[in-house]
Amino acid sequence: MPRRRIVIYGDPVLQKDAESITSISSSIIALAEDMQAAMYAGNGVGLAAPQVGASVRLIVLDPSAGRDPRQRLVVINPEILEMEEEETAEEGCLSIPEFVTDVSRARLIRAIGMTMDGKSVEIEAEGLAARAFQHELDHLNGRLLIDFLNPLQRDIFERKYQQMLSRKRNLL
Ligand SMILES: [Zn+2]
Repeated sequence: MPRRRIVIYGDPVLQKDAESITSISSSIIALAEDMQAAMYAGNGVGLAAPQVGASVRLIVLDPSAGRDPRQRLVVINPEILEMEEEETAEEGCLSIPEFVTDVSRARLIRAIGMTMDGKSVEIEAEGLAARAFQHELDHLNGRLLIDFLNPLQRDIFERKYQQMLSRKRNLL
């Protein structure tokens, strides 16, 4: 079982800017491990630190969802330098249960960040890997999938989400 639970929409940590990481302490290393465990337990392809309640700029990705260790990536203070082409696809988020929506994003990205050994790294990604990177980076800026909805869609979402939460509470 992962040591940290994934926080869901409604928790303010998901809607604020996360802090840059200035040193790779043992707590940051433990956080990255916990995030990977939580990502795999949730069958996700990426997770950002605010999703486990830590407001720091750290993301983990694995577009292969655990099938290919070479696709595993942990990035500290990620930044996107270039985005190219646009592609629309359906996305979900581990922090917004039972919700998916179409999101238009760059198909190709070039990004930089730091590895867990404190080295600068440049990342080129395309397709799902690029999409996941953009999704997780949004989390570090307090931006969620539902921020892509128009006001009417957002209203409908909020109503359904409250109903879903009360259904879950009734299960206890
Ligand atoms: Zn998400």
